[in-house]
Amino acid sequence: MRIRIVKGGWGMVADVYVDIAHSEVDQPFTYLVPPELKIAPGQRVTVPFGRGNALKEGFVLSMSEHAPEGAARFKSIAGTLEPYTALLPDQLKLCEWLKQTYHCLTVDALRLMIPAQMRGGRVKENRVRMVGLAENCDAERVRATLLNRAGQAKAPRQLEVFDLLAASKNFLSVSDIESFIPGAGGAIHKLIEKGVLVEMGSVTFRSPFPQPPPASEPLVLTREQEDACSRILKAQQCGTGAFLLHGVTGSGKTEVYLCSIARAIERGRTAIVLVPEISLTPQIVDSFRARFGERVAVLHSRLSAGERYDEWRRIRTGRVDVVIGARSAVFAPLERLGLIVVDEEHEPSYLSEQIPAYNAVEVALKRCQITGSTLVLGSATPSIASYYRAQRGRYELIELNERASGARMPEIEISDMRREFLAGNNSIFGETLLQRLRACLEAGEQAILFVNRRGYSTFVSCRGCGYVFECGDCDVSMTYHKADGVLRCHYCGRERFLPEVCPSCGKKYIKYFGVGTQQVEEQLKKLLPGVNTLRMDMDTTRTKDAHRTMLEAFAKGEAQVLVGTQMIAKGLDFPNVTLVGVIAADSLLHLPDYRSYERTFQLITQVSGRAGRAKHPGHVVIQAYTPEHPVIQFAAGQDYKGFYAYELANRRAALFPPFSIFVRVLFTGANEAGPMQEAERFREGLEKALLAHLEKRGADPAELLFILAAPAPIKRRQAMYRYHVLIKLLRTGNTAGLISEIYRFADANRSPCFTALLVNPQDMF
Ligand code: ADP
Ligand code: ZN
Repeated sequence: MRIRIVKGGWGMVADVYVDIAHSEVDQPFTYLVPPELKIAPGQRVTVPFGRGNALKEGFVLSMSEHAPEGAARFKSIAGTLEPYTALLPDQLKLCEWLKQTYHCLTVDALRLMIPAQMRGGRVKENRVRMVGLAENCDAERVRATLLNRAGQAKAPRQLEVFDLLAASKNFLSVSDIESFIPGAGGAIHKLIEKGVLVEMGSVTFRSPFPQPPPASEPLVLTREQEDACSRILKAQQCGTGAFLLHGVTGSGKTEVYLCSIARAIERGRTAIVLVPEISLTPQIVDSFRARFGERVAVLHSRLSAGERYDEWRRIRTGRVDVVIGARSAVFAPLERLGLIVVDEEHEPSYLSEQIPAYNAVEVALKRCQITGSTLVLGSATPSIASYYRAQRGRYELIELNERASGARMPEIEISDMRREFLAGNNSIFGETLLQRLRACLEAGEQAILFVNRRGYSTFVSCRGCGYVFECGDCDVSMTYHKADGVLRCHYCGRERFLPEVCPSCGKKYIKYFGVGTQQVEEQLKKLLPGVNTLRMDMDTTRTKDAHRTMLEAFAKGEAQVLVGTQMIAKGLDFPNVTLVGVIAADSLLHLPDYRSYERTFQLITQVSGRAGRAKHPGHVVIQAYTPEHPVIQFAAGQDYKGFYAYELANRRAALFPPFSIFVRVLFTGANEAGPMQEAERFREGLEKALLAHLEKRGADPAELLFILAAPAPIKRRQAMYRYHVLIKLLRTGNTAGLISEIYRFADANRSPCFTALLVNPQDMF
């Protein structure tokens, strides 16, 4: 190991974060910059680190001139990892913000900005060896030197290679030449030595795309789309703006995105488009590629390591204008950013569950502020939190109330499954849905049947009257725990035994139930013999291209009915689909989560939106055991504003977000006593600290709505026992201070079983 010590003179030093995720090294280390290295902030470098001076990867965050007296203590940077800065200046600022907001290590934030495979040199550029005739080579004269006096080749292979290259007048890859002329390698080598050929290394990019889709032209915008685009354009010109684009399903939000991006590109800017789970929505990717061609990159989890790295490099080296991807694409290294679009902004997949547990919508907003870009959040069913922000002026609201293609909104019917059950119909399909299905298939049209899978069969209800067991304190349904035979509230831990008869109607119809896609498909085939079905769920879509293939098959009419889970709810646009059935809408309502009404409304609206998008009118049948439930009613009436007002009132009354904030601290351990005791101890200490914090500020101690230690709803997972401390804080001017206090307390009281600290977690399992 060579360590250069610079004596005297003024040089540059760099502050380097070493790529080791440990709180003890989460600080900048100063290194000398050797004069021959080209280094700038954002560069990835290798540095000798620690006592043994092992080479480690690191990030240069800032640089300055050093005073001569400091120099003797510093080691030198050993080399650079890329010939360009891996991180852009705005990304460095974003890291700083991520660190403060999500309380992560600097390195955790830095790592978000580059593909994981790039670290530790695990993937390499795809290099191709290209050879061609040397520039000053006189072909006639050279050819003569390759022949003997009799006019025969001295070395036949060399002559062959030479003739091939002379004829092509181009550089050819060595592997191509070898496929024409087996064993050409040695001859190429000789010709290079003789100076006849020159070699040129060149880099290729692995492409995740199959064939490019046919090019598409912009559509003539509707009035509403036109207004939306011009408002967004105005904001773009000022380098500001955050919009909530609330457009009914089929209102043509995609065209608004495309148009806004086209205008950004005209002005020399670039754009990021976030979609919830890109592999589920190949149609949207195609529409961007059709409009913007090769200058589009995609980033998502189903790319191979090499593809991901290559797409990232295409972006970083300025070869693309538009990046489409799942939540982590918000960190894409695009220069001259002008616009970030978040499609289906209400989707929970924008929340990361790993460290740092960031919210991609929040990050997008911040990145827009840093770069002077415009944010567009689009949804047919905005999250309560976002709509609330729009109401309070944090976002500008844009509404699209009509379907762009001129199609009417579908007609929605509710089918009372309680009545069907009491009338002796035990099947999954009610009369209404069955009739509609028959009519749809007879007309040669297609249907989609939606089956909820998330958390199914965990809530308990009465099939006779629709009664659902709820926690009296928390207003969420209780969850059945088979092992203990009890119902438990996931929010407060309250328990009760499952009675034999329904407390409401006294009958013995109590059941924890739910249906799976497979069951639906089987029953359907019995009821409608000869029907062609396709089933999309976790089981049938494991392979990389399964989604695309199945959706394409359905689009081609190879099946009449598509049966699927959440993954078919969004983004699909099939003109021939005229019927959508929601199998057990109630099963969505009673998830043990304060957002279950919101999720139900969103899902019913999204799936309903798949019906009747073209010339034939659409029908939707919602099967429910509690058809009178306000959420089902609002969804059937396609009344977002009504639902919003209803739900906001619920949230206000129960002090759920956005009026409060949940914080969850998780403890896990192989033995139950560890996490249990640590959680309890943590709660005790934290409660005192929080109350003291409130007292110091002269605030009401009741702002700490509750703090409790309890077994996590899934108490044992992967052989680990899990306990959590749940904290609910009233949202006031003190909330931010209290959250910092929680982080501070957690840092100061790290215990062996501590696993995670999540603010506003996506679920509490
Ligand atoms: P959303 O995302 O709002 O549900 P889409 O963007 O999928 O809606 O658009 C719905 C349908 O309307 C698509 O088939 C699209 O091609 C069509 N469409 C969008 N804008 C227009 C327009 N201006 N004129 C005609 N058809 C349009
Ligand atoms: Zn409860």
